[in-house]
Amino acid sequence: MEISFHGAARGVTGSCHLVEAGGHPILLDCGMYQGGRRLDEENADDFGFDPSDVEFLLLTHAHLDHCGRVPLLVKRGFRGRIVTTAATRELARIVMLDAAHLHEEEARRDARHAARGGRDETTPPLYTVDDALHASDHFDKTTGYGDPMTLAPGIDVTFLDAGHILGSASLLLDVRDGGAHHIVGFSGDIGNADRPLLRAPTPTRGADAVVMETTYGNRHHGPQQAAVDQLYSVVDTTIQRGGNVVIPTFALERAQEVLFHLRRGIETGRLPRAMRVYLDSPMAISATAIFERHPEGYDDDVAALFRGGGDPFALPGLRFTRETSESKALNDIGGGAVIMAGSGMATGGRVRHHLRHNLWRPEASVLLVGYAAEGTLARLLQDGVKRVTLFGEEIQVKAEIHSIDGFSAHADADELLAWHRAIAPERTFLVHGEQGAMDEFATHLEKTQIVMPRLGESFAL
Ligand code: ZN
Repeated sequence: MEISFHGAARGVTGSCHLVEAGGHPILLDCGMYQGGRRLDEENADDFGFDPSDVEFLLLTHAHLDHCGRVPLLVKRGFRGRIVTTAATRELARIVMLDAAHLHEEEARRDARHAARGGRDETTPPLYTVDDALHASDHFDKTTGYGDPMTLAPGIDVTFLDAGHILGSASLLLDVRDGGAHHIVGFSGDIGNADRPLLRAPTPTRGADAVVMETTYGNRHHGPQQAAVDQLYSVVDTTIQRGGNVVIPTFALERAQEVLFHLRRGIETGRLPRAMRVYLDSPMAISATAIFERHPEGYDDDVAALFRGGGDPFALPGLRFTRETSESKALNDIGGGAVIMAGSGMATGGRVRHHLRHNLWRPEASVLLVGYAAEGTLARLLQDGVKRVTLFGEEIQVKAEIHSIDGFSAHADADELLAWHRAIAPERTFLVHGEQGAMDEFATHLEKTQIVMPRLGESFAL
């Protein structure tokens, strides 16, 4: 049995690991590299293995950095079966379609630039909407948490709740090959146990080797309640003084989590009942519908709410604006509304229009609820710039800018350590983390052989 690493090796994106088990090639995740041009270009590189050899693709969850290269894998010859949880299957489909749509748009823009510059060479999209639809056809069986599934004689996989986003899983791969018996755990992304909605992560107990993420291997989250209190205080004061609250938001999980908190804020009297809330993102609207179809994915409180006929994401003043014309109409709202739109780091999408119409208003607020990478508009606002250029127009920043960093979907260093201690594996492969985070995390691990694989490296298990 052998394992090789083809992404998220000493980096946080592009998760992709290949296991050769008893002559059966099994791929764990096939994610996209994200964050800057150099990484974008790496997506088009060779996978480092032949996709047509791979028999199974097991997906831990539907984030782009875990499933974003699946259409490319299929385009390059993969004909195997894709196994996921039921929620991941639905979410991965919209994530891949959205990515394909963006790739097509980018290619069209490049072609226009090339034509204007008199250049012939154009870059084709990484994959198209058709490729993403084709990839969806390869999604095969879905599985629930904790039920072992036989992939081939002697090879079983069990999906365990990772508590990271709806449908997310850690995987336990059990392989009997001749006289040898190996049990390997794959963390996927491990959730932050402090958050509402989802259950706490289940460690891959019994594994003699684990492949684990280290995104926040050197960070500690503040208490969740402080983040929620800050959310309520910003929304309430802004609405009271007649402004709008603009929330740039990721379509998957973060948007639903904010809806959940707003609903609870209204129920507990901490937010005004008359407040209007707009979810202005077709993808977030589709994702919310999927969230409502999977009550099995939540913790006991939310599951009970569903059973009683409730909906954790429904608010009295909530409107979904799917059409562009509906989205444009929001520009006329001067105050009293919460507007949630993508993209999460305000690098594109509808939120830029809402920022254009609200940043100059001193009564408005912008609420940053997610990670803001260097160079993005969200980061500029976070850093306190006084002017920004949007759609060729210079706009003064008079609105209040607030950052809330307590909504992370990732386990922090203590939670990662607790996950590892519950398993106590002989061997630990650290992936999906920056070098500094991995190095620091590694100093806390005891009685295990630590490996930090490089891209393309393989190891006998
Ligand atoms: Zn993730």
